[in-house]
Amino acid sequence: MTTDTQPEVDREFRVYRIDNGTVIDHIPHWHAYKVLDLLGLRGTDSLVTVGFGLRSKQLGRKDLLKIENRELTTDEMNRIALVAPNATINLVRDGRRVDKFKVLLPDTFQGLARCSNHGCITRHEPMTPCFKTLDRHPVRLQCHYCTQISEGSDIQLL
Ligand SMILES: [Zn+2]
Repeated sequence: MTTDTQPEVDREFRVYRIDNGTVIDHIPHWHAYKVLDLLGLRGTDSLVTVGFGLRSKQLGRKDLLKIENRELTTDEMNRIALVAPNATINLVRDGRRVDKFKVLLPDTFQGLARCSNHGCITRHEPMTPCFKTLDRHPVRLQCHYCTQISEGSDIQLL
């Protein structure tokens, strides 16, 4: 027996509903852990609900995160774009969705990640890494200082 024939709306509904907070949808399957880490939510007492392996027309399987009583900053949304470039962020207030954002990694940005070149000046001096976004799906970044390209598992989040 399988429950795969059940419509998506039914599956979504089984994830605990929040009245105020943020819903992060369209996270690649099994990447919800990374999003929890980069938002610093692992090990905190924030009420977080995670749905793993929900059905998605776009991604096949996807993860979904609900964070109660927390709204994300632009910087946090940019961080999410590093591990979940298709993520959508829904802001919920009083049980209603009041805003919806699509994450988008900026063309250039500072911080967020570490240059993958161990000899890079940003690894040895107290300076903020700076990157140019070459591609978003999948993410490819170029270091402003040493021109090293980081992609896939080379990308270490700060
Ligand atoms: Zn570098």
